Amino acid sequence: MARGVYSWPSFKFREDTNNRKTGHIPVTYSNADTCPPSCELGQQNICYAKGGPTRMIWDRMETPINYQAMKDSFYSMVFDLEYYIKKAKRHHWNPRIRGNITGDLPSKKGDRELINLRMVTRLSKAVKNARFLLYTHYRPTYGLNGAAIATMNSFEGMTVNLSANTLDQAVEYKKLGVAPVTVVLPHDHNKKVTYHKGEKIVTCKYDWDGTQCKWCTICWWKDRDFIVGFRGHGMNKRKHKNVFYRGSDNGIA
Ligand code: SF4
Repeated sequence: MARGVYSWPSFKFREDTNNRKTGHIPVTYSNADTCPPSCELGQQNICYAKGGPTRMIWDRMETPINYQAMKDSFYSMVFDLEYYIKKAKRHHWNPRIRGNITGDLPSKKGDRELINLRMVTRLSKAVKNARFLLYTHYRPTYGLNGAAIATMNSFEGMTVNLSANTLDQAVEYKKLGVAPVTVVLPHDHNKKVTYHKGEKIVTCKYDWDGTQCKWCTICWWKDRDFIVGFRGHGMNKRKHKNVFYRGSDNGIA
């Protein structure tokens, strides 16, 4: 996606969302350029953020004509990092925040595969009074990404999950020990708990029994000893399944 008119990266902060999965908690969005180009879901155009209401938010974050409308709406402002940090700092009265409903972490200028350590450290420090939850598709084995993610997770208020697309990748990420791990499961996966190469995968509570994130909180647990699996959903769920099963031994026990 082409760069928008905003200082890059840009963020949106929603004080409360009526999202049926998260429950009533604050959520944030990052613009599309924060996603690493290597993300397989983005490359195949099957990322959930590329469709429906999230797509509209991304487009609005990139489209000059809508900028003023978003700026004028108290609950839908677009921020640069400075304002985003200021806003995050104030969040101790409703501490659980689900970050990056769309988008990912800011990258280094000139290398969109490399996490911007300075920016993410500032953000992590700022949320010390909150419980800030993120997922990332940056490759933890590329450059200093693993160290950047581990640094973020060393701050009390911050939890960054590594997002894997296959079970092999999830197990590989888990062995790195830098962050908790999640994986997208086939949409028709019907087990609450499963195992792959000795690692336990627990299906997301919402996918299983409708418990909202606000009450479940498992993804905020930094030291959990299992991987969280999300069932693929939306119009691309069958394509997700192809990614999940591609070329590796992803048989579910
Ligand atoms: S496992 Fe829990 S916290 Fe994580 S996405 Fe599912 S419901 Fe939300």
